[in-house]
Amino acid sequence: MRSLSARVALAAMAWLLVAISPSAHAQPAPAKSAPNATERGPDVAATLAAHPGLVDAADVVSELQVDLRYATADNFLGRPIYGELDRCYLQRDAAEMLAKAQAELERTRPEWRLRAWDCARPRWVQRQMWKLVAGTPQQGYVANPKRGSIHNYGCAIDLTLATRDGVPVDMGTPFDFFGPRARPDREFAMLQDGTLSPAQVANRLVLRELMLRAGFRMLANEWWHFDCATQRDTRRRYRPVP
Ligand SMILES: [Zn+2]
Repeated sequence: MRSLSARVALAAMAWLLVAISPSAHAQPAPAKSAPNATERGPDVAATLAAHPGLVDAADVVSELQVDLRYATADNFLGRPIYGELDRCYLQRDAAEMLAKAQAELERTRPEWRLRAWDCARPRWVQRQMWKLVAGTPQQGYVANPKRGSIHNYGCAIDLTLATRDGVPVDMGTPFDFFGPRARPDREFAMLQDGTLSPAQVANRLVLRELMLRAGFRMLANEWWHFDCATQRDTRRRYRPVP
């Protein structure tokens, strides 16, 4: 196994070499008002199951743990917006890449599993999220539905590592933590100033190495988010979920 310093160096190199997907996120705007009431839309699970090209990732990645936070109130919106959805749908290409990451994890860290927090997301849900965060400090963290998120194409996944019995590994922040501590591009400085511990950075690097080697791309501001292709290629290859 590599030493921590070697791993940090690898991460820094990966950071320089990997073309980072342009983030759909920006700095949060000042809060103006509380989220508005949400509207009801089509059934999320049925919409995703019917969309051509999407597969249930668990059919391809046998050990995948699925913990869809937007199907519960345990998310930054404070309410469920995915209805009864309990499956991680992805483009087949993305699911097969994830299977490669899983195989590598089994080889290097057999005690850990991949744990998905968010996968494909219909566009109408994106519009709903956009309405909920309008005028709040979280607005800058939700992609404008006019352009859409890579999640709308089933080409993005938010995930972490967890023990076999589902206890997430310590990555230094929870899912959807809005602040610099979630930023991969500041990890080196945060390791030096003690904001992140060596173990937290090392854990992030395990996840990142698996995902990058499997062909995923990373974001600058969210350690848990990975895209299966560039934004341009995603929009060219796949149809968004309406
Ligand atoms: Zn994401």
